[in-house]
Amino acid sequence: RAKENTKKDYFYYNIKLIEKIEERKRIKKILEKALNNNGFELKYQPQIDLDNGQAEYLEALIRLKEYDISPGKFIPIAENSGLIIEIGRWVTKRVIGKISTDLAKGKAPKKIAINFSVHQLEDHNYIKFLKETLQENNVAPELIEIEITESILIKKEEEAVKFLKQLKDLGIKLALDDFGTGYSSLNYLNYIPLDKVKLDKSLNDKFLEAKASAMGNLIKLFHSFNLPVVAEGIEDKEQYQRLQEKGCDYIQGYLFSRPQKWEKIKEITTINFIEKINEE
Ligand code: C2E
Ligand code: MG
Ligand code: MG
Ligand code: MG
Repeated sequence: RAKENTKKDYFYYNIKLIEKIEERKRIKKILEKALNNNGFELKYQPQIDLDNGQAEYLEALIRLKEYDISPGKFIPIAENSGLIIEIGRWVTKRVIGKISTDLAKGKAPKKIAINFSVHQLEDHNYIKFLKETLQENNVAPELIEIEITESILIKKEEEAVKFLKQLKDLGIKLALDDFGTGYSSLNYLNYIPLDKVKLDKSLNDKFLEAKASAMGNLIKLFHSFNLPVVAEGIEDKEQYQRLQEKGCDYIQGYLFSRPQKWEKIKEITTINFIEKINEE
């Protein structure tokens, strides 16, 4: 009987594996199609400055227009298939183009953060591409922030450090994303020219209530390196109040706003988000 069960398990295991491979192939085709047919769009989520309630930064987050497949699912497939390089360039070009059109209309531009995957290091001409795109659109590099994760330092340390220094020389801002999900050696604080650290949602959910003082110390640690701190994934007011008490600088989360279409950006720049949630 035991033998039979093993055989059965093996059979189901194989089926599951085949299903997974088929699913990945299907999504890869969708991504290829989206690249060719304008099938991606960007949503923008504000990061609220706790000093004044304003959205000084917006993070660009990619979506598939016609499919309900989250980036958490399709970005890893884009990474493993190499499509991330073309997708990454599309995102960069789109963001810079959007800022440029708004500059032309005389609207105050906002600083925009772009996510950058470790696999994009394979795009050896990315820096050149970025520089040219900024120049063509007449956009100041200081308006762009690039978000990296620790994985970039773990996988390709030397190459990554060189790349990040080139970005900084260009005038681009640099944020460390998803802090608290990796190995967090902290050693890189000595040699990576960061401008900001983003605390991952999981860290905020785990520690804000039970270990608020630890969160306060963590924020102080980053402040001692002159790094402002953003807390990600904040959904309720209590979390916001705790973070405010602990000296957190920015909050990004559904409490203040979900990612929005570009058309909403003008309105977003006029809102005092702290007053808004206090009225509710
Ligand atoms: P991320 O860079 O850490 O982005 C933050 C994610 O948290 C976004 O998910 C955002 O919608 C979500 N979020 C924000 N506030 C809340 C909240 O209060 N509650 C909850 N539950 N979630 C919140 P999203 O847009 O699904 O993106 C997931 C991940 O996919 C991103 O995580 C990023 O790693 C990746 N990604 C998204 N867009 C791009 C892109 O253009 N390029 C690359 N390379 N990666 C991207
Ligand atoms: Mg991010
Ligand atoms: Mg994050
Ligand atoms: Mg402050």
